Amino acid sequence: MCKVRCVLVIAVLLLNNVCISRVVLPHVPDIMHPPIPEDADIDADLIDQLHDQDPEVRPGLFQGDMAMENDIYKYWRIGLRKDIFPEKLWLNKTVPYVISPLYDVTDYVTIYRAIRTINFMTCVKFIPWNGKVSDYLLIWPIKYPAGCWSFVGRKGGSQILSLQPPTDRSTNCLGNEGRAIHELMHALGIFHEHSRWDRDRYVKIHPENIVPRYKSNFQKQSPENTSFSFEYDFDSIMHYGKNYFSIGSGKPTITPKVSGVKKLGQRKGMSVLDCLKLNDLYGCLDNPKTRRKYFSICKFLGISS
Ligand SMILES: [Zn+2]
Repeated sequence: MCKVRCVLVIAVLLLNNVCISRVVLPHVPDIMHPPIPEDADIDADLIDQLHDQDPEVRPGLFQGDMAMENDIYKYWRIGLRKDIFPEKLWLNKTVPYVISPLYDVTDYVTIYRAIRTINFMTCVKFIPWNGKVSDYLLIWPIKYPAGCWSFVGRKGGSQILSLQPPTDRSTNCLGNEGRAIHELMHALGIFHEHSRWDRDRYVKIHPENIVPRYKSNFQKQSPENTSFSFEYDFDSIMHYGKNYFSIGSGKPTITPKVSGVKKLGQRKGMSVLDCLKLNDLYGCLDNPKTRRKYFSICKFLGISS
């Protein structure tokens, strides 16, 4: 069985490499300057201080790992609202992508598994970039800001999504496919779960334990700017863990208020509600037939505690 799977994976890799070899990749600089809000400044010293923490908190972008533009920053939501930002959704539910040839085979497979998972669990389809269409995702190990980060929704043109490969010190963004799924979900238009305006009913924020400069990462949005169709999701792959941006170990920054909830967030795979949320954003639940299909897939394959 393993033999068959290994042969299949290698065949897929070879096919993808053939595809990549036919297209001319743009030059990607080691240092990126993604457009971000003026008040989400990047500070190299502070980023260094956070190096022992989760790789998502390191880039110093909006809420750690989102490269934002001012217009979205003002109206950010749990998922982009289709009526306000229709242009931020990927056209025809299709995302052309390139995985950087700088990744080694193991990391390439991890990223590819994340893509394949979303392709199976939702009606969104990631397809290898043909070298022609103007909007596509470039999955690349950017050196600065390093870490795992993404724009939210379709930015237009070649759009970087950074996944830092493992080093001797850390698996960084590619210990499993979960962090890649998290960033891909940002690229599709999903925000962090703990940003919901009603989150105070479900979690407690501990401002005294947050690195002062990053307190804004725990802000929530007003009801006017936020809409969502699903229950608060403690299991979400888009939820911060208890210690994100903490000033020290044993000092949680966010804890559950609901009894019985022991863990916040995870980076293994889409939860049931993550899966439904993504399908909902891309209209996969509009048609009764596809609705039944994706409800079943999300229910059976999504993570729930
Ligand atoms: Zn994130």
